[in-house]
Formats: sequence, C-alpha cells, structure tokens
Amino acid sequence: MQILNWGALTPQKQQQTLTRSPLIGDLSALQSVRDIIEEICNQGDAALLRFNKRFDGVELTELALTAEQITAACNRVSLDVKQAVAQAVSNIESFHRAQVFQGVDIETQAGIRCELRSEPIERVGLYIPGGTAPLISTVMMLALPAKIAGCEKRILMSPPPINDAIIYAANVCGITDIFQVGGAQAIAALAFGTESIPNVDKIFGPGNRYVTEAKRLVSQDSRISVSIDMPAGPSEVLVIADKAANPRFVAADLLSQAEHGVDSQVMLVTDSQLLAEQVNLALMEQLAQLSRKDIAAKALECSRSIIVSDMKQAAIVSNRYGPEHLIIQTAKPREVLKQIRGAGSVFLGAYTPESVGDYASGTNHVLPTYGYSRSVSSLSLADFSRRFTVQELSPQGLQTLGKTVMVLAENELLDAHKNAIALRLDYLATEGRCY
Ligand code: NAD
Repeated sequence: MQILNWGALTPQKQQQTLTRSPLIGDLSALQSVRDIIEEICNQGDAALLRFNKRFDGVELTELALTAEQITAACNRVSLDVKQAVAQAVSNIESFHRAQVFQGVDIETQAGIRCELRSEPIERVGLYIPGGTAPLISTVMMLALPAKIAGCEKRILMSPPPINDAIIYAANVCGITDIFQVGGAQAIAALAFGTESIPNVDKIFGPGNRYVTEAKRLVSQDSRISVSIDMPAGPSEVLVIADKAANPRFVAADLLSQAEHGVDSQVMLVTDSQLLAEQVNLALMEQLAQLSRKDIAAKALECSRSIIVSDMKQAAIVSNRYGPEHLIIQTAKPREVLKQIRGAGSVFLGAYTPESVGDYASGTNHVLPTYGYSRSVSSLSLADFSRRFTVQELSPQGLQTLGKTVMVLAENELLDAHKNAIALRLDYLATEGRCY
C-alpha cells in the first residue's frame, strides 16, 4: 500500500487520500441500474429470469425455492457448518434480543399523556449478496432481527444458484420465502413486486454498487413507498495501530476486507513508519496465500497507509474518513475510542479481528459505508420496527395546554388549528364533559 505522511500533505491531498475507490462512483453502473428497474417494472418475472441468465449465467424456470428444494439443500450442509451457524445464531440472538424497545409512556404535564410505541414493519425484503462470496453470515444478520422484531412477511433474495448453507441459515432463522434473484433486479422486484414476488415495505441488506444504487433509486421513486436500511455498499476497514501492534495481525485484518471486492477499500493509520513498512511486507506474504488474491490485490491498489503524529491525529483522520469498520490495535484502545465520532462498528485490541463481528460475536455486520457512519447507525433491532407516538389529554390537560396552542396557532396564521382547541374549551366551560 502507498505510504503517505499526513502532516506533509496539502489539504487537497489529504482530502484525496481519504476518497473512496473510483469504482464506486462508476456512472455507467448507474444508468444500467435505471434500465434494469424499468424492465422489472414492465416485464416482471420474465425480465428476472432473463437477468439471471445474463448476469449470473443461470437458467431457471421458477424463481422461488420449493419446500422440497429447501429440505434437500439443508440435508447437504455439513455438521461443521450447522454447528457454526448454531453458535453464531445464539450470540446474534442474545445481542439483538437485548435491544427490545422498552417504550416511553409519561405525563408531560398533568392530564397530558405522551407515548412512544413501536410496531414491527409488516413486510421486509432481505438481500443476501452472492455474486462473489455466499454470505451465510448476512442471512443471520438480517433474518434474526427481522424475526425477533416480529416482521410478519420476511422475503429473502440472493443471486442464483443459492448456496446450500445460505438456504440452511435462512431456514434456521425462520425464513420460508426464498427467491433466486440477485443484483439490482432483486431490489426492483422487492420494491415493485412481480407475478411471483410480493412487494415489501422496507429493503435490507448490503450488496455491490448495482445493489446499492438500486436501493437508493427505488427508495426515491415516487411511484412506490419503500424504504431502505442504509447505504451499505462495498466493504471498508480502517485500522489504527501503534508501533507495538503486530504487523501480521494488522495485515490479516486489512486483507479480510480487501478480499470482499475489487471496490473494497482498506486504510492503515499509524504513528509508526516502521509498522507501515512491516505491514506492507506482511500483506505481500499473506496475499500470496489467499484464494481471492486477485480481488484483494485490486482492492489494495486504492488503499493507503497514513502516517500520523500521534493517536489523537489518528482519531481525527479516522473521523474524517468515517469507516464502516474501525479496528484499534493500540496499547490503550479505549482511550482512542473516546475520540471516535464516526464508525459503523469498532473492534478493540489485538485479539478482536473484524472477522469475529462479521460472523459470530453477536453484533450486526450490516454497516454504513462511504463515510455515512458519521451520521447513520449500524443495523439494529430498531430498524425492523417503526416507532410512532400516541397522545391523550384529559379535559384538565386540554384546559392547561389550550392557551399555549391557541397562541402558537394564531401566530402561524392557522385559524382552524386554533378553532379545534377553542370550541372544545367553550364546550367544557358551558356543557361539561361529553364522555
Ligand atoms: P451481490 O449479490 O451484491 O451482487 C451480485 C449481482 O450483481 C449479480 O447477481 C448481478 O445481478 C449483479 N451484477 C453483476 N455484474 C453486473 C453488471 N455488469 N450489470 C448489472 N448487474 C450486475 O454480490 P457481490 O458482487 O459479491 O457484492 C457483495 C458486496 O457486498 C461486496 O461489495 C461487499 O463488500 C459488500 N458487503 C457489504 C457489507 C456492509 O455491511 N456494508 C456487508 C457484507 C458485504
């Protein structure tokens, strides 16, 4: 990776150093996503089957998996995978069950009761990437909170042919509707519905730039009202490491993100030039052993090591970048954590590789990318519910608050608002309560 000295860079060069991979902004992808969405809208399942053949090289006659296909796939999964899924499910369930919304129910003044309630979103679509790696873990990260939240209809989509372990994990997590469709076309189908696929209220899940762009476009399409979880695009990690960090650990963590896709980005921020050089050597050694070395090597081309003066500056650089994953391998990681203002998920110390959060520690691995971690939260149970407020005033409550509301309404020139209060106050004064 290119090694740059932060202090020696001009402000423009500093900004350039923190820009994402140019592949993410590839405009040709955006136009093709628009075309794909329109084809799904107009031609439904027929277009989905065509795209399956064009982009995934798979010719199908049915998009939905049958119960028999699901059982057969589950039977083919090894005991090792089943045990690993069971352990991961247990931890992910524990962490997400602990997030159950407690609600708010208070009197703001005597006779004025205000509540914040939560209800599950009825129909959710869960996208599981499968273009280059079958992300079994993403099934658990989406399907478990959807089930715990109580979402009634949970539809899973993934590019064909869907890996057996994905089907197994979906089955364990209580998913019954599984469709073999990937990419932008899967997102369009979830948003608009087709002959065989019902439309949903909210779409979840990470994906490549076609998937991410399709999510953005359908969420802004005035013909429908579908929302999305977040911009969870190509994976990225930023590692803050000090001179005592183990360069082999750091390199391994950088490569674990670089292997996701050619448009993934990894960054090292350190106060030690020597460590940056040692990490580069370790990267070369470890890269050669990886099955996805070509993908990882391409991702490393847009990745950088940044030398900073101290850990305070490291936190400043990290906050400007706003990484999806932040690993802090320093002597006192919790000291650095205090200065972090934007990161999707944080991994502290030498023994917390990002892989543990990707799979099984319990935290969710669907996280905001492109710097959105400064303002968008990591996926949690709350995303699968909608929160709404309820209020109820007693006659005494309305008598207490009435004048305030009427003054404000009058000054906003909204007479009908004022009148809705005034006529009730008159009624209470002359007739008493109506019930
Ligand atoms: P994917 O399922 O997102 O995309 C595969 C689909 O892309 C294919 O089915 C195909 O329909 C479509 N496609 C491929 N080439 C196309 C083209 N030229 N035109 C139109 N459509 C095309 O799987 P993937 O490609 O492996 O990407 C997964 C992504 O998810 C990676 O970038 C990874 O970094 C990211 N990820 C992010 C998070 C997160 O939380 N942010 C978590 C896990 C994975």
